[in-house]
Amino acid sequence: MAEADIALIGLAVMGQNLILNMNDHGFVVCAFNRTVSKVDDFLANEAKGTKVIGAHSLEEMVSKLKKPRRIILLVKAGSAVDDFINKLVPLLETGDIIIDGGNSEYRDTTRRCKDLQAKGILFVGSGVSGGEEGARYGPSLMPGGAKEAWPHIKTIFQSIAAKVGSGEPCCDWVGEEGAGHFVKMVHNGIEYGDMQLICEAYHLMKDVVGMEHDEMAKVFEEWNKTELDSFLIEITANILKFKDSDGKYLLPKIRDSAGQKGTGKWTAISALEYGVPVTLIGEAVFARCLSSLKDERVQASKLLDGPKATQFSGNKKAFLEDIRKALYASKIISYAQGFMLLRQAAKEFGWTLNYGGIALMWRGGCIIRSVFLGKIKDAFDRNPELQNLLLDDFFKRAVANCQESWRHVICTGVQTGIPMPCFTTALSFYDGYRHEMLPANLIQAQRDYFGAHTYELLSKPGVFIHTNWTGHG
Ligand code: NAP
Repeated sequence: MAEADIALIGLAVMGQNLILNMNDHGFVVCAFNRTVSKVDDFLANEAKGTKVIGAHSLEEMVSKLKKPRRIILLVKAGSAVDDFINKLVPLLETGDIIIDGGNSEYRDTTRRCKDLQAKGILFVGSGVSGGEEGARYGPSLMPGGAKEAWPHIKTIFQSIAAKVGSGEPCCDWVGEEGAGHFVKMVHNGIEYGDMQLICEAYHLMKDVVGMEHDEMAKVFEEWNKTELDSFLIEITANILKFKDSDGKYLLPKIRDSAGQKGTGKWTAISALEYGVPVTLIGEAVFARCLSSLKDERVQASKLLDGPKATQFSGNKKAFLEDIRKALYASKIISYAQGFMLLRQAAKEFGWTLNYGGIALMWRGGCIIRSVFLGKIKDAFDRNPELQNLLLDDFFKRAVANCQESWRHVICTGVQTGIPMPCFTTALSFYDGYRHEMLPANLIQAQRDYFGAHTYELLSKPGVFIHTNWTGHG
């Protein structure tokens, strides 16, 4: 009997939690998994006492679904998704919906969308963020693909998503084809940037100001009451004050070699591919790469000189406020760059992206959730065609208000030899973006000199000329 509102395939941590979340919101979910024994385990344990039902074959699962059938895949990204799609298609009818909630590459999602459209199946690729806790109690959901599917999944998606403000769901339709997964990828890249910016603030507090962990924790707690109010600032305060079983702070004992799974790298690769200067995420990825050269750095630390360490002699309170402002301004740049990449992708693929909606989707439920994203939403509400976040009045004023502090922090950090790849690249980007004239005229002249690549004159755009720079030949 067709009794289930939706099916979910993939009973690992994400799938199980998402099923329980849907169950909490009154939906009947049919669970399935490649290793079928996990269905019975799940029904007998985690899902005991719920309305969740199970299936022992895809045929049984499909027969239990109301029409149009809605099936979520939460399996390992890659061939597992294609395998399930291939097995499902012969069992489905025109208008049925397959949703991939895994971390698939956006190009795979675009391909699947097109293939399934030709077969009459509606395919949705949805970014899901917030880890297992998010999946269980309210993730950020970023669905994109076949828009005809949206009216059939909207209620379920928006019910289970995280809520902000007066109950607004952190889920809306993102755009066509692989747009949902593209937006999820950029979200992850921005997460890399946010984390690195916080690390640079911590480094300055620790090594320039010479602060202790408890004191730094208090500063982050205070910052969390300002424009920087966010999940990552909140957990940083908790991490800083956390003590190990021996009563000593845990953080300084942790090996300073950062891991990565590649989603930040993919954002940086896309930025290069589409020619968008998303410098901050790029630097955040490289900062992790540099950190991972631990053994080499240990050797170099004994051989390479930097400035002599000096006691901090400035006004501590004022300098901490400068760091806060440097962090805030850099964060604005990072998000401005992220949205530039989204705009370019939209142009490249012919997508119509819902920028304000994207800011709202990231506002809660995910790792980069913050009050700040509400301001980005407001900016796109004021002007949905906003070319760059930096040109919005609110952000223009915010950066102007931080600028002096930002420059001061960078000067101090450079003079004391503290690496600040993201603070500095953000400021370089800002200075580059606000310059009417950059020295790229010289690059054009050099290219023409050695390679006859031609150049345009400012007075005659569109007309390409070559000069014989040496007078030879
Ligand atoms: P996972 O470890 O990525 O995947 C395990 C699931 O995939 C199991 O159901 C497994 O079935 C199935 N699977 C693996 N290889 C398969 C294959 N070749 N054919 C068919 N099924 C296969 O699980 P997860 O951590 O819950 O993540 C699920 C998806 O959500 C992934 O795409 C992940 O990247 C994404 N995601 C994860 C998080 C997170 O915090 N973990 C957050 C957001 C998104 P068996 O039980 O039979 O092995």
